[in-house]
Amino acid sequence: MGSQLRCGELLPFAVAPDRTVFPTPPLDAGACALRSFRVQSFSSLLSEVRACTICAGHIPHNPRPVVQAHRSALILVAGQAPGRRVHDSGIPFNDPSGDRLRTWLGLSRDEFYDPRKIALLPMGFCYPGKGPGGDLPPRPECAAAWRAPLLAQLTNVELTLAIGQYALRYHLPDARGSLTEIVRNWRDFGPRIMPLPHPSPRNLMWLRRNPWFEEEVVPELRHRVAAILRLHRR
Ligand code: SF4
Repeated sequence: MGSQLRCGELLPFAVAPDRTVFPTPPLDAGACALRSFRVQSFSSLLSEVRACTICAGHIPHNPRPVVQAHRSALILVAGQAPGRRVHDSGIPFNDPSGDRLRTWLGLSRDEFYDPRKIALLPMGFCYPGKGPGGDLPPRPECAAAWRAPLLAQLTNVELTLAIGQYALRYHLPDARGSLTEIVRNWRDFGPRIMPLPHPSPRNLMWLRRNPWFEEEVVPELRHRVAAILRLHRR
């Protein structure tokens, strides 16, 4: 669990009890007022996430957060929320959506499931259950509770893949237009983030209607992913 800040220490960040993330200057005597704030290692934070029960009673099963992350991760996959199959297996993107996503990225399963390379942090970490039109949206409590402290520690991420409308809203809050328009304008967002549609089989019609996505965006996506992994070959 967390430890206390000590004067003179240089720490990457601090998290207040309300989960506000603080920048981390070296602590001088004045800054020692921060002592009451908890500093967490990434592994203890991840353990807390995996034990989270915030949504108990609001989802039709016991919470089972499904995430993959390591402080060294280079690429962040910001998806939507686990589906039923992922909830049952406990393995993120272990379904047809994951197969398509790995094809888009040009990654083998071994590469995709290496947390030192790829962080898999959907907008909701637990399966939210089914509604009349398919799976329900990610629980809003999740991003509010966990996203800022987790992202604050993923300082090696060079590329964020914002997949689907919920991740787009969070990671590209200023982007305007429909999901299709935002994805179509992917060049506007620079080299560190790419907006993507969800790779779900339910989106096959979208993919057929928008052939430019697989013709233009997927090759660029594959190129960026390969370049980052090549540069940081471990
Ligand atoms: S969806 Fe997120 S906030 Fe809700 S129980 Fe799961 S991990 Fe906790």
